[in-house]
Parts: sequence; structure tokens; C-alpha cells
Amino acid sequence: MTITSNPHRTLVVGNWKLHLNTSQASLLLHRLQERIKIYRDIEVVIAPSMLVLQPLSVQIDRRKFRLAAQNAFHKDTGAYTGEVSFAMLQDIVHYAIIGHSERRIYFNESLEMIREKVASAVRNGITPILCVGETKQENRAGETKQVLHDQITTALADLTSTEVKKIVIAYEPVWAISTFGGELAKPDDVQKRMDFIRKQILDLYGKRVADTVRILYGGSVDQDIAGGYLSIEGCDGVLVGGASTNYQKFSGIVDTAYRLRYGGGN
Ligand code: PEP
Repeated sequence: MTITSNPHRTLVVGNWKLHLNTSQASLLLHRLQERIKIYRDIEVVIAPSMLVLQPLSVQIDRRKFRLAAQNAFHKDTGAYTGEVSFAMLQDIVHYAIIGHSERRIYFNESLEMIREKVASAVRNGITPILCVGETKQENRAGETKQVLHDQITTALADLTSTEVKKIVIAYEPVWAISTFGGELAKPDDVQKRMDFIRKQILDLYGKRVADTVRILYGGSVDQDIAGGYLSIEGCDGVLVGGASTNYQKFSGIVDTAYRLRYGGGN
């Protein structure tokens, strides 16, 4: 059995976006629970719609899966019609996706709003999966590093270094997400961006924090290409959108993560 040098558990996160009503979500979870085993070094996280979180929290096998919210509101309570707060989710989810490019672009979430959400999640004991990444235009203009720097420094500004240690950062170039074109990023290029993100954390919070923070890749990952990203030195897992609502594809990605950690079949 060959364990890779990665000291972290590999994280595989499925973002179900605005898909699957309650019964469809329950059926998909049932299929995933049948197919996916308990893996000591692999953490599988599912982010269904807000409506479905509560019923799935009852159905879910907690030895195999954890739940994530796709979004929440930064105030704990108050006159904010239509919102659900991190405070209300704290007994249900372990993680929350924050700053996803669909939220930044379709819902005009600003750097400051994302900072407030990250702080609120942490205050309520929920681990943020902070999504960062440049658009195609920014990439072509050579602005990627500046964009990543601004997104990271603002989002983490209200946290202590002990809090930063626990968070997860997902590098998701906007142009690689299926919603926005789904161009496949080269693992070599992703490696450079991940190194840059870790260096930002190193400069701001020191080596201990930089070594501990988990960094994921996201952008049209499926079972056929997951291995290329999961093999990147310093890549702690993947954030999966489209492929996560197909139980064969998603469990295929988990199988790949398993093979990379332990070698051979499972
Ligand atoms: C995502 O939703 O974060 C994502 C990466 O989506 P997709 O895998 O569909 O590109």
C-alpha cells in the first residue's frame, strides 16, 4: 500500500447547484451511499440545495459523507426576508461553499460580501470552502495573480491565523467551470496557481498555516480527468459541479482519489 506524501485527507466535494428536488436528491444520496465505501483518508462532501439539506442530514451516513451549504447569509438573524443564515445551518452542515463564481457573477457578490460570509461561517463553526479564480479576460490580460491575491486577502481579512488554518480554498478558473465554457485547464498551469495561492497564505500567515490549509481544484472535473488534477503536488482534492449529480461519475472520482492514495484497485 503506497500512501502519497499528501498529509491531508483528500477532499472530494460535489456541488449539486440548482438541481434535484427532494426525492431526486434522496435517491442520488441513496445510490452514492451504496456505491461509496468508508475511506479513512478521503473525505466526501455533498452540497445539495438549501431545501434538501435538512432531509439529507437525516438520511446521510456520516461515516461516509459530510454536508455543505452552497451559500448562506452573513447576518445570524434579523429582518432579512428570504435568507438563511450560517447560524441556522450550524447543526446541519460541516462546510459552506463561499464565493463561487456563479454567485460572484450572477448575484453580484462583492469581495466584501464574501469576506462577511467567510467570517460568519467561521463564527458559526462552519468551514468555508472559499472559491477563487480569474475570468478568461483577466487571464488573457495577465491579471490572474492580482485577482487571486485580492480575492484571498479580502476574504480572509477578518480571520485569525488559527482560523485560516482550517479553511479550504478551491482554485476554480471561471473559464474552466462548465457553466462558463468548461475549457479544460492544464494540470501544470493549475499547479502554478496553487503554488501561488499557498505562497500568499505563507506570506500572510506563515509556514504552519500554509502547510495546513487545504487547496482544491475545480473546473469541469469528471472521472476521466480527475487523476490529472489530484496528482498535482499540493492539491488536496477537487470541487465537482456537473459530474457530481451523476452517481457513477462522482463515485468514479472518489475511486480515482482512492487509487492515487493507495495504488492499485479498490
Ligand atoms: C463548480 O460548480 O464549482 C464546478 C467546478 O462546476 P463544474 O464541475 O460543472 O465545472
